[in-house]
Amino acid sequence: MTQKPQPAEVAQALVEALQGQRPAIVCYAQCEPCQWGQCYDEPTPHSWAGPEDIEHAQATGQPEPTGTCACSCARTGDPR
Ligand SMILES: [Zn+2]
Ligand SMILES: [Zn+2]
Repeated sequence: MTQKPQPAEVAQALVEALQGQRPAIVCYAQCEPCQWGQCYDEPTPHSWAGPEDIEHAQATGQPEPTGTCACSCARTGDPR
């Protein structure tokens, strides 16, 4: 039996994500500066998780968030 998330569950997940109660479920995880358009001037590999994300994960017993920021400024040697 397949179990699809109900629209209400998705909406609730989104609300919780926005409130920082759970990791945001987004295709492109970008760090906060990039979300605010404060990108690195020079491409610098960095994680999308900020200090608050890591702190929150530790406080809630979740694994430390890993993953590179999806922003183009997190990629060095970008082919144009
Ligand atoms: Zn970033
Ligand atoms: Zn960026």
